[in-house]
Amino acid sequence: MSEKVIIIGSGPSGWTAAIYAARAELKPLVFEGAYTDENRIAGTLPLGQLALTTEVENYPGFPAGNLEAYLDAALPEAKRMEMPPHSRHGVNGPELLELMKQQAINFGTRIVSEDIKCVDFRRRPFHLSASDGNSYEAQSVIVATGARANYLGLPSEEKFKNRGVSGCAVCDGALPRFRNKPLAVIGGGDSAVEEATYLSKFASKVYLVHRRDKLRASKIMAERAAANAKIEILWNRGVDEVLGNEQQGVTGMRLKSTAGEADLELPISGFFLGIGHTPNTAFLQGGLELTDKKYIVWTTPGRTFTSVPGVFAAGDVADDYYRQAVTAAGTGCMAALDAERFLAEHGD
Ligand SMILES: Cc1cc2nc3c(=O)[nH]c(=O)nc-3n(C[C@H](O)[C@H](O)[C@H](O)COP(=O)(O)OP(=O)(O)OC[C@H]3O[C@@H](n4cnc5c(N)ncnc54)[C@H](O)[C@@H]3O)c2cc1C
Repeated sequence: MSEKVIIIGSGPSGWTAAIYAARAELKPLVFEGAYTDENRIAGTLPLGQLALTTEVENYPGFPAGNLEAYLDAALPEAKRMEMPPHSRHGVNGPELLELMKQQAINFGTRIVSEDIKCVDFRRRPFHLSASDGNSYEAQSVIVATGARANYLGLPSEEKFKNRGVSGCAVCDGALPRFRNKPLAVIGGGDSAVEEATYLSKFASKVYLVHRRDKLRASKIMAERAAANAKIEILWNRGVDEVLGNEQQGVTGMRLKSTAGEADLELPISGFFLGIGHTPNTAFLQGGLELTDKKYIVWTTPGRTFTSVPGVFAAGDVADDYYRQAVTAAGTGCMAALDAERFLAEHGD
């Protein structure tokens, strides 16, 4: 039997698409990914990137701090009296994703805990093969498989993830643990310079660690970094080890030289990766048009259409620019509405 809509992916974009598709009675089937060691190591376990982090301070509707006090202060008393008590403080990544998933289930979403391994989008119904060996058919598909931040792959980096090591400066930079502290950004491209510039608003100092003697970033970005008094570029340096301890998390880094100089040890409280992302699109195997960085191409401005009519893309898998939970959720909503309209027009 052919499904009306299959959603591949289980981050904010996938669950939001599922909520909208389920409420539109499209009975969505979500492939949330498989719980395998391979996915754990790659950072693509079900629930996506946000499940890898702790505090989420910028998702609207979940203010950090004492939520009870916040509601008392923010709402008129009569309105406040209608609300049930809430003792939690803000929300963390896994909580937020579990809430989204539950919301999708509440409206009838069905979930398969498997990866989609390959697709055939040449004709409708589309064919999808899952990691359990089963094949599925769908009249429309929403690809919401996200992108993962690249890490250096050092054991010390893995050890201090969420305790000072982060793959997202915009997401984590404003957290109290990084305020007025020396931080490091690894990389030399535009995104590394952007991250360093962003962090310089909060940090006492930002080291930009680059393994060459010239930034890969565009001229304007490189000039911006050079003009920022808080940014110090450490040329010809690679990371040997992230230093830290159980209580404080990251406390420093040891850098090796790519130009024959002695090792350098510096105190830092935050270690941010600015070495790019890898979109989870390998399983598409040429089924959709991709950019040169392997992101799915949105073919029509302001829509989630892909190169194949009836296949839509949502979230970070098609967005290498904003990369936030709320933008992923926004395009998830759009993809479900686009799929609904497509099915109404083309029949299911
Ligand atoms: C350390 C860190 C902290 C962050 N903090 C914040 C923050 O505070 N606020 C914020 O707004 N954003 C934050 N972000 C960014 C945010 O997590 C992403 O923008 C958002 O999760 C993207 O959502 P998505 O739905 O597009 O994809 P993802 O969250 O990447 O989820 C996609 C998921 O789909 C599944 N999947 C992948 N391939 C397949 C397949 N073939 N078959 C089936 N399933 C598959 C996997 O489970 C994958 O993880 C952070 C990111 C990182 C790395």
